[in-house]
Amino acid sequence: MAFAITQTCCADASCVSVCPVNCIHPAPGEPDFGSTGMLYIDPQACIDCGACADACPVDAIFPVASLTEQLKPYADINASYYDGKSTSDGDPGPNFHAWGEPVFDRAIPAGFAPLDVAVVGTGPAGMYAVEDLLSHTNSRVTLIDRLPVAGGLVRHGVAPDHTSTRKIGETFARFHHHPRLRLRLGVEVGTDISAAELAARHDAVIYAVGASSPRDLGVPGEDLPGSLAATTVVGWYNGHPDVPADAVDLAAERVVLVGNGNVALDVARILTMDPAELANTRISPDALERLRSSKVREVVVLGRRGPEDAAYTGPELLGLAGRHDVDLVVDEHDDRIGQAIDTAARGDKAALLRGVRREAVDWTAPPPHGQRRIVLRFHSAPRAFTGDTQVRGLRVTGGEDVEIAAGRVIRAVGHRGAPVGDLRFDERTGTIPHTGGRVAPGTYVVGWIKRGPSGGIGANRTCARETVGALLDDAIAGRLPRRRRGGVVRRALRR
Ligand code: SF4
Repeated sequence: MAFAITQTCCADASCVSVCPVNCIHPAPGEPDFGSTGMLYIDPQACIDCGACADACPVDAIFPVASLTEQLKPYADINASYYDGKSTSDGDPGPNFHAWGEPVFDRAIPAGFAPLDVAVVGTGPAGMYAVEDLLSHTNSRVTLIDRLPVAGGLVRHGVAPDHTSTRKIGETFARFHHHPRLRLRLGVEVGTDISAAELAARHDAVIYAVGASSPRDLGVPGEDLPGSLAATTVVGWYNGHPDVPADAVDLAAERVVLVGNGNVALDVARILTMDPAELANTRISPDALERLRSSKVREVVVLGRRGPEDAAYTGPELLGLAGRHDVDLVVDEHDDRIGQAIDTAARGDKAALLRGVRREAVDWTAPPPHGQRRIVLRFHSAPRAFTGDTQVRGLRVTGGEDVEIAAGRVIRAVGHRGAPVGDLRFDERTGTIPHTGGRVAPGTYVVGWIKRGPSGGIGANRTCARETVGALLDDAIAGRLPRRRRGGVVRRALRR
């Protein structure tokens, strides 16, 4: 009996290096790594040792025999990743997973003077960089965040009911008390201290500032009251200090969510689930109070493409489909939808919708009474918001154009980064240009500001390894700029 990786997989690959038989894939360095949303255990090769379960930072790995009813499909999901590419059947096939070259933690020469490194941002990208610096070098780290609380996206981006995923924050928080780390919260680079001042006080600065600005849809009417960015809604239910407690009004019966990534599914789930279930989570008390009196009966999740190309991950969809307090419905307004679902191969995303009810939804009618529901509508691109002084609906394509009457429209079509100080910024990608994480010797980037807003928490681990590697290369080669001490900078960081 094998082990299986389940819904909360963070894909940071902590489990890969402890597996004695190399049966967890895709591993860092393999082509699929970072694009599958989760990792998978090959049940034919697994020797059932349990080492991966001990190493997993989010408690996502269990023996197949002990999977709960809701997690049982993961036995099949893990196995189906290896369809035609077993590591153990003697026939290597196209995806045979041979051991790759060993990767050793980066080291610096003995006797090398400690580096003083500033890391800006306390989210996963910054914390993986901090972990690397503190665990594998003798560096001293100044960890800075503009907010008065640490945690970044783990604290303010992960849905409150995803308690296992949020656990990784505890792993990161252990480093906040490391003797070689100074934590400085409520310090904003560009306001409380300039980038030049920060650089002058440290041997190197790593920016892990993420990509927190919402992307626009670029359709008429999106600035109308009643149109909200998903970042606002997520910040609202997670108690983000920048988002007012009354930022989200739930007086509408139907909400349309534009976008079908994991954030859209998170928001749809939080808006429809029983508030009593949320009461035991880290949800903001103000948001919980509003959810208790919410009028929302239906959330429509709009995707431009078909179910086979949806941006959400399989585990997120499966989590939603398994809920008993919410009806999940696919709007079958187009023949391509049923066809994609019925013909999908085992393990494909569209195949996960096979058990989900399908109907051609009448958008001229109000949402039905009874249990709340989430409607997945594919092949639908937004054309324009309707309403004069307030959102009344959204006109979408999909065969003929259709107007979906809705009192709230939430835009969940991604994020983009913002410029940092006077560092060069690529407006097209919303990132800071770099080579392997190096902006210039002494200045580095990691996470979404480096590679754009894609990849989950775990993707930052290899990203940070690359960036810290570039920093150490520069240090060893004597390329880091000389720094000066004292003055205004010391005062700003002393707060
Ligand atoms: Fe590898 Fe042991 Fe986990 Fe199986 S139980 S995947 S052999 S670490």
